[in-house]
Amino acid sequence: MAVELKDETVWVRERIREEEISKYLDGGKDFIPDDEIGRKLAENQKPDRARVREILAKSLAVQNLTPDETAALLHVTDEELLDEMKKTALAVKKKVYDNRIVTFAPLYIGNLCVNNCLYCGFRKDNEDTKRRVLNLEEIRRETEILAGRIGHKRLIVVFGEHPQTDVDYMIATIKTIYDVKTKARVGEGNIRRINVNAAPMSIEELRRLNEVGIGTYQVFQETYHHETYARLHPKGSLKAHYAWRVTCMHRALEAGIDDVGIGALFGLSDWRFEVMGLVYHSRELEEKFGIGPHTISFPRLEPAFNTPYADRSPYKVDDETFKKIMTVIRLAVPHAGMIVTARENARIRREAISLGITQTDASTKIGIGAYSAEGEDQEGDRQQFFLGDTRSLDEVVRELAEMGYITSFCTAGYRCGRTGECIMELLRSGQEGKFCKLNAVLTYREWLDDFASEETRRAGEKVLGQEILEVKNRMPSIYPKFMEYYERIKRGERDLYF
Ligand code: SAM
Ligand code: SF4
Repeated sequence: MAVELKDETVWVRERIREEEISKYLDGGKDFIPDDEIGRKLAENQKPDRARVREILAKSLAVQNLTPDETAALLHVTDEELLDEMKKTALAVKKKVYDNRIVTFAPLYIGNLCVNNCLYCGFRKDNEDTKRRVLNLEEIRRETEILAGRIGHKRLIVVFGEHPQTDVDYMIATIKTIYDVKTKARVGEGNIRRINVNAAPMSIEELRRLNEVGIGTYQVFQETYHHETYARLHPKGSLKAHYAWRVTCMHRALEAGIDDVGIGALFGLSDWRFEVMGLVYHSRELEEKFGIGPHTISFPRLEPAFNTPYADRSPYKVDDETFKKIMTVIRLAVPHAGMIVTARENARIRREAISLGITQTDASTKIGIGAYSAEGEDQEGDRQQFFLGDTRSLDEVVRELAEMGYITSFCTAGYRCGRTGECIMELLRSGQEGKFCKLNAVLTYREWLDDFASEETRRAGEKVLGQEILEVKNRMPSIYPKFMEYYERIKRGERDLYF
């Protein structure tokens, strides 16, 4: 496809639509009240045991916590209470999501960007970064490896913000990816759910994106703290507009994208403030649209090529604090999916799983065109930051199986309308778990037959055996239909789901 070159300055000037921001503001103000958050953090510094336990009981009943309750948990330092919080976080996760972990891979499509975020290797002024945007043929080749050789069913496609990777280009890439079908050992390899991480867009653009069938639309606020945000995103750049970014999920929901993913880049500002920001954001979306975030991400700032800020930020978060952040988010927004990525090393990712994480990536490469290129796993001058864990999907699935978790390759949700308000209701009532359990088993069977190594298959069969028994005992009425699907999949049929 010939890419029509657009004048960068004109493109940037025309991007932000003030009328698509002001309609979501209250008296001209956005929904992140820095002073109020500061006050709540100050007022909840010494929660007593009884109060903490009351709050934990509320989480266990799968109810959202208030900002005051979240602030109280953020200040717990007592080891025994912290331990109770972690155990409750895992219990909440099990209640809502059972023992499933969803897996995906990121696909970086290009590293052209008009912005200058101080912490990012892709920023415009980083002259040492080798710039490249994949063409559709290259995207097809990347997808063939991801879907055909590794066996991924879900991708998150990541875009810089640039006229060459605008919404028309995004739509073309998404169609290309969905079109790829490759032969696997028994069935076929294909991508069934594409999530998108891209800069804020207008309602019209988001409607068009929704029409090609995306899963989750994900945008991280980076930092919710207004002053810090202004410091890290230089004035005059597109990304400097805090309100355009913080209202992007309002526009997405208005455009009909039901699954939205929010996040904060931990390490840019005070971590307690950022957790509060995520909670305020979740509440705002639930209040205005009846739909909370489908997922919450909490990337930690990593070193990036020729990017001194990523090393010298005074707000970097240590491992213990990071675990506390995950615990509190799980407790404060119990129905949200939580994503931890290969930015983190294998040990932290294992620990994150036992704090209630629901999604993680594997076989990850973030260099542009890196999946189909021979060579080094990580090439600093082509990627946004450095990864902490480059293990293969096969290894991750095996480790999860050994820990008693089933890796779900289910992508049924958005394809059969279980999204947005509907999925929130199903999650709250524990019903969603039923469909997910059935689909997790069916897709796991597919994956073990199509892609697993012998060793992983052995570990996986054990988990499958337990899961099938649970379906039999807990859902006797669905069991016969479920086993019919299961047997058909064993014989080579694919993509059967509830
Ligand atoms: N350009 C789009 C935007 O800014 O929304 C999305 C793509 S950007 C490549 C994806 C995310 O990477 C950003 O939202 C940011 O949170 C994260 N990121 C940037 N620099 C990072 C770093 N040094 N370490 C870890 N994550 C980083
Ligand atoms: Fe561009 Fe996103 Fe990196 Fe900022 S974080 S420089 S917007 S790619």
